[in-house]
Amino acid sequence: MKKVVIIGGGISGCFAAIRFKQCHPDYQVSIFEHNDKLLKKIYATGNGKCNFANKGSLENKYSNESFVLPIVKEFNSNQIVDYFESIGIKTKAIGDLLYPYSESAETVANHLLKRIKELNIEVHLNDEVKDYRNGVISTVSGEYPYDALIISVGGKSSPKLGSTGDFHNVLLKHGYSFKERHPSLCPIKTKENTKMVEGLRSKVSASLYQGNKLVHEEEGELLFKKDGLSGMVIFNLTHFINQLDNKNNVTIHIDFAKGLSGEYDSLTNPKIAQYLLNNKLDIHNTIFTFKDFYGYDNSQVTSGGLKISELNLDLSSKKEKGIYFIGEVVDVDAICGGYNIMWALASAEKVNKAI
Ligand SMILES: Cc1cc2nc3c(=O)[nH]c(=O)nc-3n(C[C@H](O)[C@H](O)[C@H](O)COP(=O)(O)OP(=O)(O)OC[C@H]3O[C@@H](n4cnc5c(N)ncnc54)[C@H](O)[C@@H]3O)c2cc1C
Repeated sequence: MKKVVIIGGGISGCFAAIRFKQCHPDYQVSIFEHNDKLLKKIYATGNGKCNFANKGSLENKYSNESFVLPIVKEFNSNQIVDYFESIGIKTKAIGDLLYPYSESAETVANHLLKRIKELNIEVHLNDEVKDYRNGVISTVSGEYPYDALIISVGGKSSPKLGSTGDFHNVLLKHGYSFKERHPSLCPIKTKENTKMVEGLRSKVSASLYQGNKLVHEEEGELLFKKDGLSGMVIFNLTHFINQLDNKNNVTIHIDFAKGLSGEYDSLTNPKIAQYLLNNKLDIHNTIFTFKDFYGYDNSQVTSGGLKISELNLDLSSKKEKGIYFIGEVVDVDAICGGYNIMWALASAEKVNKAI
């Protein structure tokens, strides 16, 4: 019996296993996962609701867009919804964002786990893969042969959920090149002191600049940290900061009351107004200077990863036959809104077809 082995039981690995075994019941499909359960991260996604895809435009959302778009368009949000519904996950849209109807990530996890069981996919838990060579993987429990190997070990973000990035070092030893990795979709530290407004939120317009060059504009919620900024608007800006060749001279210009005039404390939270007045800041153009990202513990995805130049268009390795890469281990990341899980699912489907 031919064997497909999958390293990493996150959403991309589990989905690849399900789709492949469903299309090729004559293969033995095995998932090796070093956590004590599969899909550990998925429970935390979308604030526990799992925003698994987005039915809006996909342009200007991803890094390496020209490589990614054909793949996410080939297995698009309609196909994802159809497939989820076919395995019992009723779905709904909130605006363009797609969720399980229950608004519980557990629904997604439960139905995927049920399919894994029904399809007799072999699952090895608490079994870290240490290396692979000549058609055999070595794990903490032993050695296992494969005909095709799918590597879905994730990035370095939220390592408590399993994605430690340790396996990236194995890949580096195999000669793969990686684009420099950074936390993304995370809070940032700023040079300005924000302690006085820690914990306060405001709906704002934010403009990202490098020097005098406008890089990106975004509207949404800002949340002050004691030493910087957070909130959805900042999470999305981190994606664009990561696209810059260097992180020098990066500033974020906040308009707390776009198009409005009046007393500051009538336009925004009075404590924020006081902070602006104390520091002689313009409510329409408060400038924060980017110092650093918060760490991987606080980031949702990893920017950077295995370079796409290492991959053929079907996500097979250019240098090692029978090896495929999917999900966040690849140098692909997106803004918030379901695009990252969409990439995990679409890249898994791509490899299902390729094998
Ligand atoms: C808090 C949070 C909220 C998020 N919300 C959303 C959202 O709503 N929508 C969205 O689109 N994206 C969201 N994301 C991002 C999204 O969850 C990830 O992009 C996606 O889960 C990546 O899937 P993956 O399978 O590539 O990697 P992962 O889910 O990280 O899975 C990798 C798996 O590989 C295992 N592994 C690693 N190394 C080894 C090894 N050597 N041997 C065995 N197993 C190994 C890990 O334990 C892990 O289970 C969120 C992320 C976080 C942290």
